[in-house]
Amino acid sequence: MEKRARIAVTGRVQGVGFRPTVYQYATELGLSGFVQNTPTGVLAEVQGEGPAVSVFLERLRASPPKEARVGQFLVEDVPLGPNGGFAIRPSRRSGDLVVGFPPDLATCEACTRELLDPHDRRFRYPFINCTNCGPRFTIVRELPYDREKTSMASFDLCPACRAEFEDPVDRRFDAQPNACPECGPSLALLAADGWEVQADPLRETARLLREGRIVALKSLGGYHLACDARSDDVVRRLRERKGRPAKPFAVMFQSLDELGRSCEVSDREAAELTSSAAPVVILKRRRDAALSALISPDTGDIGAFLPYTPLHHLLLAEISPLVMTSGNLSEEPIARDEEELKRILGRVADHALVHNRPIVRRCDDSVLRLVRGQRLFYRRSRGFVPAQVDLPLDGPPVLACGAELKNTFCVTRGRQAFVSQHIGDLVEYPAYRFYGESIDDLLRLLQVKPGVVAHDLHPDYESTRFAGAYPAEMKVAVQHHHAHIASCMAEHGLTEPVIGVALDGAGYGPDGTIWGGEFLVADLRDSRRAGCFKHYRMPGGEEAIRHPARMAFSVLLAEFGEQADALATRLLPAITAAERGILSQLIQSGAHAPLTSSAGRLFDAVSALLGLCDTISYEGQAAIRLQTAAGEGSQSAYPFEIEAVTKESVLSFGPAVRAMVEDTLAGADKGGIAAKFHRTVSQGVAGMCAALSEREGLRKVVLSGGVFQNDLLLRMATGELKERGFEVYSHRLVPPNDGGIALGQAAVALARAEL
Ligand code: ZN
Ligand code: ZN
Ligand code: FE
Repeated sequence: MEKRARIAVTGRVQGVGFRPTVYQYATELGLSGFVQNTPTGVLAEVQGEGPAVSVFLERLRASPPKEARVGQFLVEDVPLGPNGGFAIRPSRRSGDLVVGFPPDLATCEACTRELLDPHDRRFRYPFINCTNCGPRFTIVRELPYDREKTSMASFDLCPACRAEFEDPVDRRFDAQPNACPECGPSLALLAADGWEVQADPLRETARLLREGRIVALKSLGGYHLACDARSDDVVRRLRERKGRPAKPFAVMFQSLDELGRSCEVSDREAAELTSSAAPVVILKRRRDAALSALISPDTGDIGAFLPYTPLHHLLLAEISPLVMTSGNLSEEPIARDEEELKRILGRVADHALVHNRPIVRRCDDSVLRLVRGQRLFYRRSRGFVPAQVDLPLDGPPVLACGAELKNTFCVTRGRQAFVSQHIGDLVEYPAYRFYGESIDDLLRLLQVKPGVVAHDLHPDYESTRFAGAYPAEMKVAVQHHHAHIASCMAEHGLTEPVIGVALDGAGYGPDGTIWGGEFLVADLRDSRRAGCFKHYRMPGGEEAIRHPARMAFSVLLAEFGEQADALATRLLPAITAAERGILSQLIQSGAHAPLTSSAGRLFDAVSALLGLCDTISYEGQAAIRLQTAAGEGSQSAYPFEIEAVTKESVLSFGPAVRAMVEDTLAGADKGGIAAKFHRTVSQGVAGMCAALSEREGLRKVVLSGGVFQNDLLLRMATGELKERGFEVYSHRLVPPNDGGIALGQAAVALARAEL
């Protein structure tokens, strides 16, 4: 008997070859009907003999296209219609616009093969793509995802490309960015003065790179700065010109094989590197790696990735490995267009390899590490954005403005949270401009008008000011560390009260001190501080962050009193006697020396006491050196104290500091001390959680905050807590650093809007 079924599919189903797949399955089974993109996903109707329709549904459910992420798959029987073949209909534009359009997808294997095949018409064509790969998020101006709404609109398809585009069984059917050398974008090489160089752009770029030049390279979500990763000389020059003395650079390798000769790679890490997201994965550097030591001078790690555009494939085939770092000046947003290129060309880059396909949306590379097989994000951006995070609760649309550094923001629709790409440090004006633009952009794409705006408690964050000026019915201020914990809770679908351990650099505390080593009893709505790290003073405020040695002096003064001065002459040679006098005054008077419970500052102080870092050039540098010194860690620990005060317990590592100073003076190995310190903090955290668990009756512990970017600490603390029988939750979907704050703010806002 004949029947007709209507299928409505939501999720990431546009721009991934869903309609061709439906077409193929339907025609193979002799079914008639149609398929079309809608603002909410894909709609299809198929008609034919009952069993054939069942087989069709079975097949589509079991084998959707590789890059599709099917959300709902709704099927209903509808009355029979006309029986005249199967058609792919044009997109329908009315209705609700929630479709999950995909992130940018790394070049697929089939396209890579064609790219290197001398008989293919796209041989060496740097913009080859298909329904399984190519630019998406970075070229879409508006939804639904159709060519005329992308930055490919100005390129008219040639007859050959149009034939592919219109042929439902071709692997480029409806591939919006489809192009070839006849009709698509093309490359140009620019000299430092902006004039075009008359030569084969790719081969000439490779030659320049081999010669030790720095080239700005137009990639997917912005410009990269590329140079030979084996040459100390050029890497040093890049550091000088970019104003980035030591922060690690990412390195792109031609192939997984080549990458494996420089870094240790597990199967799980290889899968991550070769995935369509193609993130930078932080790997252990091999001793015999043929790479400049200046790439990551503070760690034994390398942030490695593989080519993810055809242009990368072609270039890396000529010269590899290459340093590939964001094309910008220090912490500005990644350069995107010709105007912004002018700021780096001639100043940082000697040449620029450009093309004429505009980048609609900036998107930096994502950076992650695998910890016990789970993703630990440092930056969630290209390849992951705009994929949504599912929330445990529903409510009005929320705009969560995020934090100040490493900013991302977040927009919710129902139970879906869309966390933005990496924006950067809002203190920089260009980043702040990018922030405003990106918020407008995402709200427009999602067609959302936020009813609730969430922001940090900090009155001086640019994001807080932005929230203040934003017209919305309801504003929700969320304490920084509550947002960190809520972010991790939201990821795991937790809504009931937990013990939240937020170890962080700095966040605004409602009591006038700077928070950052907090034990919260929290649900999504509220949080209450149940304990914290012992307070120390930060002499000179922000200056103590830039100079870990000053923080160390403050800790010495607190733990050793009058002996501190003598100890500092031996342990902190970077601080002169005159400086010690000023610092003592600041600390004793408390003026310009706020109290902080920050775990980040404690790590800084210990790093400085061990002589590992007295001044930093990038955020987290002192802690990174301390972790590097600690290697694989230690089983033994220093003593610590938990002082149970009426409401808020205090975790003091004072005894540990005193023991570490003794060990250092006795000439003990720094690495051993650093390792023992990591164990001490892990045990201290677990001990505090045990004490709180007894008082509060909670067994779930949520770990968040920037200090948990330290994977050694994360592994140790998780282990200690699990041994004590806790259920432990850490981040897998967004970073534990301030890049994850917006998601937490959104979750808290939804919880508060519920009443
Ligand atoms: Zn492809
Ligand atoms: Zn063409
Ligand atoms: Fe934070």
